[in-house]
Amino acid sequence: MLENSRSVVKGRFKVNPAKRKCLIFSDNEGLSYIQPLFIGALESIETPYEVHLIKNYKEILSDTDTPLSFESVKELNIFDERNIKQLLKEQYMGTQLYIASSWKTAEYLFSLALDCGYSEEEIQVHGLGEKTEYVFCAKCYNLTLKDNEENVVCSNCNTVLVVTHEYSKLRKGYLGFAKTN
Ligand SMILES: [Zn+2]
Repeated sequence: MLENSRSVVKGRFKVNPAKRKCLIFSDNEGLSYIQPLFIGALESIETPYEVHLIKNYKEILSDTDTPLSFESVKELNIFDERNIKQLLKEQYMGTQLYIASSWKTAEYLFSLALDCGYSEEEIQVHGLGEKTEYVFCAKCYNLTLKDNEENVVCSNCNTVLVVTHEYSKLRKGYLGFAKTN
């Protein structure tokens, strides 16, 4: 769903002083991206912010945490979808949402935010680590892992597919057509 979205930020997050509040979702991978620079920028313009550290069950149990350069932090369990949605819905109008995390987590949080009525302009996303992309086979409707090649062999029906740039949100993959000759 994040594919080709305007919300994806490649460099640094953009700080907008007009925003009333910033809601930040991060995971352990995202922390080094938001601190100290981004958090420092928010503090210098005195925009209120809230950081929610998204953790999986294993991380909640372990106590090997990344040191934090800010005080206002809360922890959220990634499987606690109800609480995450509740938090998203209770924000004021004019809240800017920032997501800095692994691509997988970013994808998940981004779709929850859209479900809760956020527009792409209200969300900035910075994904980290490996990005998993798929090719959708037009012949058997199976998804195959995408590499950087022009063609990919469907892992289900073995058809050689030509990978297009056309992304299907519904199929969650780039369309792949059977290669002729
Ligand atoms: Zn196939």
